[in-house]
Formats: sequence, C-alpha cells, structure tokens
Amino acid sequence: MKYDIKAIEGKWQQRWQENNPAKTRPTGNGKKFYCLDMFPYPSGSGLHVGHWRGYVLSDIYARIKWLEGYNVLHPMGWDAFGLPAENDAIKKGIHPQEGTAKNIATFKRQLKHIGAIYDWDKEVNTTDPEYYKWTQWIFLQMFNAGLAYESNMPINWCPSCLTGLANEEVTQGACERCGTQVEEKNIRQWVLRITDYAQKLLDGLDTLAWSDNIKAMQRNWIGKSEGAEIIFTTHGTDGSVINLPVYTTRPDTIFGVTFLVMAPEHALVDAITVEENKEEVEDYRNMVQSTRSMGREVDDKDKTGVFTGSYAVNPMTKESLPIYIADYVLSGYGTGIIMAVPGHDERDFEFAVAFDLDRIQVIDGPGIKLDDDLNMQEPYTGDGKLINSGAFDGLDAKTEGSKKIIDYIVEHGFGHRTVKFKLRDWIFSRQRYWGEPIPLIHCQKCGVVPVPENQLPVVLPDVERYEPTGTGESPLAAITDWVNTTCPQCTGPAKRETNTMPQWAGSCWYFLRYPNPHLADKPWDKKDMEYWLPVDLYIGGIEHAILHLLYARFYVKVLHDLGYVPFDEPFTNLFNQGMVLKLSEKSGLVEKMSKSKGNVVNPDDIVQDYGSDALRMYMMFMGPPELDCEWQDAGLEGIRRFLLKFWNQFSDAGILLSIGAHEDELTTRRVHKFMRDFQDRLDHFKPNTAISAAMELLNDITASNMKLSRDSYEKVVVALSVLAPHMMSELIETVLGKQLATCTWPTYDPALLVQDTATIVVQVNGKLRANLIVKKGSTQQEVEPEAKNLVHKWLEGHEIVKVVFVADRLISFVVR
Ligand SMILES: [Zn+2]
Ligand SMILES: [Zn+2]
Repeated sequence: MKYDIKAIEGKWQQRWQENNPAKTRPTGNGKKFYCLDMFPYPSGSGLHVGHWRGYVLSDIYARIKWLEGYNVLHPMGWDAFGLPAENDAIKKGIHPQEGTAKNIATFKRQLKHIGAIYDWDKEVNTTDPEYYKWTQWIFLQMFNAGLAYESNMPINWCPSCLTGLANEEVTQGACERCGTQVEEKNIRQWVLRITDYAQKLLDGLDTLAWSDNIKAMQRNWIGKSEGAEIIFTTHGTDGSVINLPVYTTRPDTIFGVTFLVMAPEHALVDAITVEENKEEVEDYRNMVQSTRSMGREVDDKDKTGVFTGSYAVNPMTKESLPIYIADYVLSGYGTGIIMAVPGHDERDFEFAVAFDLDRIQVIDGPGIKLDDDLNMQEPYTGDGKLINSGAFDGLDAKTEGSKKIIDYIVEHGFGHRTVKFKLRDWIFSRQRYWGEPIPLIHCQKCGVVPVPENQLPVVLPDVERYEPTGTGESPLAAITDWVNTTCPQCTGPAKRETNTMPQWAGSCWYFLRYPNPHLADKPWDKKDMEYWLPVDLYIGGIEHAILHLLYARFYVKVLHDLGYVPFDEPFTNLFNQGMVLKLSEKSGLVEKMSKSKGNVVNPDDIVQDYGSDALRMYMMFMGPPELDCEWQDAGLEGIRRFLLKFWNQFSDAGILLSIGAHEDELTTRRVHKFMRDFQDRLDHFKPNTAISAAMELLNDITASNMKLSRDSYEKVVVALSVLAPHMMSELIETVLGKQLATCTWPTYDPALLVQDTATIVVQVNGKLRANLIVKKGSTQQEVEPEAKNLVHKWLEGHEIVKVVFVADRLISFVVR
C-alpha cells in the first residue's frame, strides 16, 4: 500500500477538527493532566519551526496522558498585546486589532498541521475585552491591596520604542526588544511591589521541579544577600555629626577599609563637601548625570571620582578615612555608600590604584604579593584567615570572622544585621497604545480612584495615530473624549489614566483562564482552580526564564495571599526547550533562524513536502530537547525514510499472525523491551533516543521477518502515535479496524525483560544477510537451523565449508 501523505494527513486533520477525540472533559471528571505551552505572540511572520519544537514536545506528553485515561487540558491561545502589532499599525496604517486577528488566523491554520490535541474551545486571546476585563480586575485587586503605587522615578527609557521599561526588560544596558541603549528618565509610573514578595519568590523555588539552571537564574535576579549596615561617622561642613550608613556583605573585611565612596547623587554629598572641593564635585555630578541620560554605560575599567574633602571614622579601628564620590557606586543599591576594601574587592582595588590609596591586606590567602609599602598587588576576594584585624585575627574570614565581627558591631551600637535584595519593584506602565488601559481615574479632589469593578473592562479606544508621543504620555492622552470622565467617588470632572500595561500583564495569569475562558461574571471558577491547577507540565523557551516566569509566579502568590486561588506556585514542572539553529549561507555560521540571515525553515513547506508526522518526528530526533540543535535536511530525510519503511512493514497485513496463532516468545520479549526503552526515555525527556529505540525495533522486525500478534502490533503503533499521530491512526484503523481513541497507552511486563534477547548477525561469505533474535546464551545447535532458514536463498546450491559462531553476536557461513 502506497503512503499518500497528503490524503492521509488531510483526512485525519479534518476528522480531528470535526470531532476532537481528546476533547477536555468537564472539571472533576477523573485524574487530570494540565499540559501547557507558553502561548505565542501571533507575529506577522507566522509559525516557525522553533514553535513546532515546543508544541510537539508538549503534545507527546498530553497524548500519553490522554491514552492513559487522564482528563487532559491542552489549550492554546494568543499573547497578542505588544509592540510589533503597534509598529505594524504605524507603518501600514492597519489597526492593531485587525493585524492581530489576521495573524491569529494564520497561526491557527498552521497549528492545525501539527496534529496536536488542542481543545480549541478553550482558546484565549489577551486582547479580547472579555479577557482583559480580568487583567484589569487583577490590577485593581493589587491596587486595593497597596501593591501598586504611583511614582516619579528615574527609570529605564528606550529612546527607540519611546517607552519606559522594567529592569527585567533591559539586558546589558539595552532594550530587550529593539537592542537600543536605554537612557535614564524621570517619568510618572505605575509600579508593582514585587519586592514585597522577594523572599517568597525565593522560597517557592525550592518546591519546584524546574531545571537548576532556571532556578539559579531567578535566584540571581532576586539577588538576596545577607550582611550588615554599619554606621561610619563624619562631620558636616557646619560641624554637626553626620552618620554615614554603609551596607556591606563583607563585614569581615572592616579592618581593611581605606576610604568611603558615595554615589554622586547621594543626598548627603552637599552636607559633607568642603568649600574648596565644591566646584569639582558639582562638575563631576553633572558629568555623570549627562552620561547616564545619554544611555552610555559606565566604563567599569576606568574608575573616576572626586574627593569631598571630608573624612569619616571607622567605628572598629577609629581610623580616619577619606570620602570620595564615584559613579561606580549606585544610589539604588544598598545605602548608596560603600566602605572600600581595595585589598579584597576588585572595583575598590581599581579605584585605589587610580587615586593612589592604601590597599592593605586583612585576609591571608594563597599567592598574595605585597609591594614595598605593604600594599596588595592584586585584589584577593577568596576566603582565608583574618590578619591585621585585632582581636579577630586567625578566624575564618567569611564564616566565623564575619559572624563575630557583626556580633561586635551590633553589641557596640555601630550597626545591625541586614538582608538585601537586588530585585527592584516592577515598572508596570507603558507609554504606548497597544496594551490594556490601566483602570484608574485621576480626580483633583479625591486623588487616584479605581474604576468601579462593574465598569470593567475599560475598553481600549480607537485612536487616529498610534505613534508614541515620546513625551512620557501614551497616544491615549490625545483622545480627549476618552480621557475626560467623571470621578466615581465625587462625580466631579476627572481624567483617565492614559498609560497602558506592559505586554507581560496578560501572560501573568492566562493559565488560570483556560479551564473556563468564557466565564462572564468572574475571572475563574474556584472548582476549576482546585481541580486543574497548578499546571502539571509547562513547556517553553528559556528566554522567559526571568521575565514571564518570575512575573507569573508573583501574580499567583499575590492572588493566593488575597484568597483568590488555593495554590501559590503556578507551574509544578517546567521544561525549557532549546532553539532550532541552522547554517546561514551568508555568514557561514550555524545560527538562530532569522530572515536577515536567510536561514529560516518554513514549517508549511516541510509539511507540504514531507508531511506533518515527518516534521514532528524530526523536531524530536534532532537532539536532546533542552539543547539548541542544528536543523539538517539530511536528518529530516532520514526520518522520512524511516516512516516509509515503517509504513511498508506495518501496512502489510503479512506482519500480523493469523488469528489463533501464537506469537513467538522472543518476539513478545522484543516488543516489551521496546516498550520499556521507549517509555523510559520519554519519561526522562529523551524523545530523540526513544525514536532510536523505535528504529532499532523496526530493523529487527524487518531483518528477522517477525510476525506480530494483534496485541504486540497495537502496542507498537499506539506507542508511536504520540510522535506520528496521522500515520498511526491510519494503521490502527485500516489494519486493526479500530480507532486510536479506543486504545490505551501500552504497558510492558518487567518479568519478560529479565532474560534479555540478543541479536545475532547472520553472514554468508562475510556479507550481512540477516539478523536473528535469540534468547541470550543460545547455543550453536539452537541458532544454526533458524539462521540457515533465514539465509536459505544464499546457501541454496552451495556447499557449506565452515560455520563460525560467536554466542550472542554472530553466525557466519562460508560456502563455495
Ligand atoms: Zn526598544
Ligand atoms: Zn473625585
């Protein structure tokens, strides 16, 4: 039987569309499995093979659970607010709503080719007012709980996107979206108190089955450090005593402090700068200010700074320390003042060298060299015994030394223990059009007033121009009709908030909406939350390690604390798939696919030429799913050949034993061994090697002309249906006369695996002619007759002059 890819795949896709056999059952109906993909942004360029990689992977596990009888929720939706749709609107004059709808239609058409068991009745779209009504509702709950506040603060501003950005959206000083160097700008913002949840976000990581790598990235981003705040004192220019609190994570090095450094914008700088240094300090501050607002990175190698003319006292040593201002100290971290320990800190060392300050040693470590003035020649940041530290000499610096020194500081009132986080509050407003309006009203009399819940959603109005204004106001500010409203509290004239939410707002909670996406009077139903959540398996790209995955965890923790959901972590298991790379003819490098590099593979073309099953299987075969893998046409070709060979073998009724005949015991063992390997490897997220197991099985079946019982046949075909659902559905229907939906996920009998089989190579005059599966340890007498049968046509009419037999490996006939 010829395999007509288009006809057969078309037939099954049509059927699944008309009558989805894997449709999600009602809440509460049996064991559940919630399998979630990171929903896509429906971009104009359509689905790419990278999407396929994640979606096929999740579909495999959704299908296994479905065949195991679970109630499976495997939904799909659209994360559709964001800049690209807006930029398209600006360029082509199409309303973002229109452009988005068009892109979604394309994505949906393409997604149907994957043959995944999505339940399309669960579809959500973050730009649908029915959906964002609840995105706004959640914001109001945060606002009412005091977790959202308005602030005029210096924030990261992208001069190209013309909007403020969250810290998480800035990588190495550049806008995450467009790569432009960000600037610092003071803008009125709405900010969420994610820092209130820093410790909870850290603690929760310990309960999650996520990769260590992603957990470490979140831990580093939250950046908890334990240390001490120590008070150094100085005199103001008016003679008053001024306390200079210093935050340090290395109190053990306090005997090595040789100067203090303040952030140039620190509020106390004016009070301590002496008259003759004032001009120099002022010039330096202006220079730093203009450098930062132009978006230039501080050049970390070249330390700059200015002396204030004042000195502080080290509370431990009573030594006098010069106070500098320098831009390598940031006002936002710690107290904005550091105690500089050049002997044991790299940046302090560079500054000390530039300004010719002492670099004394207080920790003994390997390879430390001092110059003639007893200054360290290199900074040493490792651990070791304290030296030159008075009563603390001899203690291990970072552990006991640190502890004892803090104890002393606390006891003598020089300071206290502290915990600090690197995490900053989340800048939540954007000065752009295509986002959820923030549901707040500004009233001159009442201040900021939330839009009453029964007036939600605040629908995003149409505008004539989508261009960002660049003034810190969104284009919404120009629609006077919309902006001017009445205050819900005093009914006086008031103005709507014109900032919109960031593109992350909709994706922070979409997984709560899928179980009942059209619920009208509430965002979700409690019963659905108890039954479906948390998500059992979440699959998506690693690029969301911090942004989406941190924000969504924060949302869920807040909703939990406010009593809206019964769990406080949304995603129990997370798997991050790697990217698909391809050789670019232009650069000669294997790179991420992109139009500009000319190395994009369009999945539509591959489905057209090779079929969906071949693409599905190749995406899984190309390498371990967590790694970036290179697309190779030859690999795809190999999978096509395997599938055709499989079809030829399995569509031939001759592979089945006639009814009543008994399956050979070795064949049964071989099938069970395959099931064990296949399932084991999938359980460990190794679909690539699971496919190898299928290839080995097919080789053995072909080479030794195995005949299968209906039961064994069904096991093999149902197992492979998670990879190649179209072909396997067809085989189950045409050969077995049943439907995949009535089959169950095959199991294996471990008892049958105890005594394993061996594959014996059968050669005639040194040429491989057949493979023979035998019980391990079979003797030559047992093997030879069967082997002769298999290679009958090469032996016929010849005289066997020699037989070589190697147990479990080979039998070789020499003939003439
Ligand atoms: Zn940008
Ligand atoms: Zn009012």
